[in-house]
Amino acid sequence: MQPQFIDIHAHTNFTAFDADRRAVVERALEAGVWMINVGTQQDTSRKAVEMTREFSEGVYAIVGLHPIHANASFHDTQEIGKDSRGFTSRGEVFDKDFYRKLIKEGGKKVVGIGECGLDYYHAPNPEEHKRQRVAFIAQIEVALEFDLPLMLHIRSGAGGNAYRDVLDILKSYKEKYSDKLHGNIHFFAGTVKEAKEFLDLGFYLSYTGVVTFAKQYEELVKITPMDRIMSETDCPYVAPVPERGGRNEPFFVTHIANKIAGIKEIDLIECQKQLVDNAFKLFKLTA
Ligand SMILES: [Zn+2]
Repeated sequence: MQPQFIDIHAHTNFTAFDADRRAVVERALEAGVWMINVGTQQDTSRKAVEMTREFSEGVYAIVGLHPIHANASFHDTQEIGKDSRGFTSRGEVFDKDFYRKLIKEGGKKVVGIGECGLDYYHAPNPEEHKRQRVAFIAQIEVALEFDLPLMLHIRSGAGGNAYRDVLDILKSYKEKYSDKLHGNIHFFAGTVKEAKEFLDLGFYLSYTGVVTFAKQYEELVKITPMDRIMSETDCPYVAPVPERGGRNEPFFVTHIANKIAGIKEIDLIECQKQLVDNAFKLFKLTA
C-alpha cells in the first residue's frame, strides 16, 4: 500500500509513548500515515529498530547519536527518563561497531543515520563542540559506508552558528564523495541563505508543526523547492495547531502537510503526493 503522508522524523520510540505506543502507531497507519522513528543514542536507536519488526509495513528506523547526547548534560523526561527529576545524558561516545551491528540487524528498514549534527544551544562551550564534532564525523563515515542518508539536527545558540559549521563539514566531505553524501536537515530553522547552501549540496529540508503557528517559517517553506521539502512531527514535541500544547504524534503530520500546501498555494493532494515521493526517494523506502 502507498501511504498518503509520511512523518519522516518521529520519536514514538521514546518513553513518552510507553503507555500507548501501539495505539499511537496504529492510529497513524490506519489513516495512511507512515513514519520514520529516529534514534538519539544507543537505547532509543535500538528501540526504533525493534519497532520496525512489530509492524508489517509503514514503520522505519534511523539510528545514531544526537549531538546533545555526546555531552553529559541534557535533561528530558519524555525521551528516556521516567523519573520526574529528569535524565542526565551519559555523554555517549559514538561506537561505530554498535551502530553497524544495528544497521545490519534492521536490514532495509534502517533508512538513515542520525539524528546527528551540532547543537550549540544546549552546549555552549568549545569542549562540548569538539565532542559533538567527533561524533558527527564518525556518523558521516558510517553513512557513507552503508550508503545511507544523514538525518541532521542543527541548532545554533550562545555557542555560535551551528548551521555554518555543519555546512563547512558537509562541503569538505562533498568534495571527496560528491554523489554519495546526502540527507535531510530536520526542523530547519536557519536563514534563507543557509537553506540555499544546503539545497545546493543536494540536501532536503523538513519542517515541523511550528509552520502552523510561527510566521517566520513561511519564507523558508516558500523558497524550499517542492521536490526537496518534507514533513515531520518531531513528536512528542511541538504539536501543530489544532493540537498545540498536547503531546504530538505521527498522525498530526496531516496538519503540517496541509499547512505546507497552503503556504505554497498548491493543491493539497498534489502536495501530499510530492511529500511522500520525496521521502521515498531520499530514504529509498521499500515495503
Ligand atoms: Zn528529533
